[in-house]
Amino acid sequence: MKKNSSNTMALTPTTSNKRETVCIFGTGDFGRALGHKLIQSGYPVVYGSRSTQISNLIPKDAEVLSHAEAAQKAAIIIIAIQRQHYNFLMPLAEVLHGKVLVDISNNLKLNQYPESNAEYLAQLLPGSKVVKAFNTVSAWALQSGTLDASRQVFVCGDDVQAKQMVMDIVRALGLTPLDKGSLLAAQEIENYPLQLFPMWRFPFFLSLGLTAFFFFYCLALDVIYTYIYENNNFSFFIAITIPNRVCPVMALILLALVYLPGIFAAIIQLYRGTKYRRFPNWLDKWMLCRKQLGLIALAFASLHAVFTLVFPLRAFVRWRISKGIISQALNNKTEPLDTTNAWISDSYLALGVLGYFLFVLLGITSLPSVSNNVNWREFRFVQSKLGYLSLIFCTAHTLVYGGKQFLSPSAYKWYLPNIYILSLIVPCAVLVVKFVLVFPCIDKPLTQIRQGWERNPKYSE
Ligand code: NAP
Repeated sequence: MKKNSSNTMALTPTTSNKRETVCIFGTGDFGRALGHKLIQSGYPVVYGSRSTQISNLIPKDAEVLSHAEAAQKAAIIIIAIQRQHYNFLMPLAEVLHGKVLVDISNNLKLNQYPESNAEYLAQLLPGSKVVKAFNTVSAWALQSGTLDASRQVFVCGDDVQAKQMVMDIVRALGLTPLDKGSLLAAQEIENYPLQLFPMWRFPFFLSLGLTAFFFFYCLALDVIYTYIYENNNFSFFIAITIPNRVCPVMALILLALVYLPGIFAAIIQLYRGTKYRRFPNWLDKWMLCRKQLGLIALAFASLHAVFTLVFPLRAFVRWRISKGIISQALNNKTEPLDTTNAWISDSYLALGVLGYFLFVLLGITSLPSVSNNVNWREFRFVQSKLGYLSLIFCTAHTLVYGGKQFLSPSAYKWYLPNIYILSLIVPCAVLVVKFVLVFPCIDKPLTQIRQGWERNPKYSE
């Protein structure tokens, strides 16, 4: 009799403003934090626990009963217990029949079990309606109220009504439910909290590797070479000079690497004459992490800007300036203003400032709060057109900075090119190929292919 009434309760829509009781199995960290939040939001909470003794950690207005007693009091039961203890639920199958069971559990490793915890729970209790939710929210965030960073709660389940009931609770807690579909999505949802910056891994390791390479390259040419052949100890270059050489080089190469996969994709599509064949895996992965590559590039460019601003404060720079002034005074001769040099220096600074400005704009538009407020065409305009313009400015900034230096034999210590020359290889290649791709005779078929045209259609009408 009791069982029937609770089953009916499970699927009856709420008709009054009074919140329905929510049962939580487990008085651990998560159970307590969620219970606290539910009580704050007006839900009566009853705990099902192995011990019915009230501890002062349990929210004040909550009841603590045995599992069976607590389950009878609510239509929704949140299972705040680790998966390995789920077996204890089997003797409760009858009382849990028809109830909505919310699986909030996580694992310690990705794909730790063959099936998701929620599917396992559904297999153990086929008479209950299992919904996966809340696993991406931490007990700490619930308790401290610092949920601003991630208000999204992924929800999935096979019973639409049960899922709706859980989503109503999520909303009442001030969070945003995101319906991920059936319980088949549970494995993916359980893997979310275990991922460690998946999109950042490749850009991070690539940047680390390139930075180390360029740092030691500069160390060899600017410090070791000058020490061996010119007997000058420039080891202090390690602090500012070398980082300020490596940062712009990294920024430029990484920015070019943001646009290089698009060039490869265009060439592959032109070669195949169709867009309906998948790109190679490496290209797919590369395309997916372009935003991260761009943001790391922006970080390097910002460091370069800061290092450049502190240049006049350096003892070495002040010493070089005063040495120049004193030598002019001793020779009683004022160097005339070299307007060509003034033009070159002003131009490369102006190009750098413009390139950096557009770079920052690209970074800002890649933030979800901004990109969500622009339409697809506006987003593409900024990321593609202004992005290429930024690449052009930054490449020109480096070219003008290098100027004639690149041609001078003294720039080739140990027959090695200056790192600025190395940094120009990828961006120049990207810009040249892009320039070729925008020619109408190439751009037209490419646009047609991207609109669905095929050179050798597989399925002709
Ligand atoms: P916890 O602090 O270890 O609490 C688990 C609770 O389970 C215990 O307090 C206990 O409650 C109950 N329990 C322990 N052994 C049991 C057994 N053999 N049989 C029946 N009940 C048993 O764990 P938690 O951090 O609260 O995590 C609970 C679940 O939430 C886990 O599945 C976890 O993956 C998930 N989760 C946790 C967080 C978080 O930030 N902590 C975030 C998202 C998801 P009683 O003593 O009252 O019986």
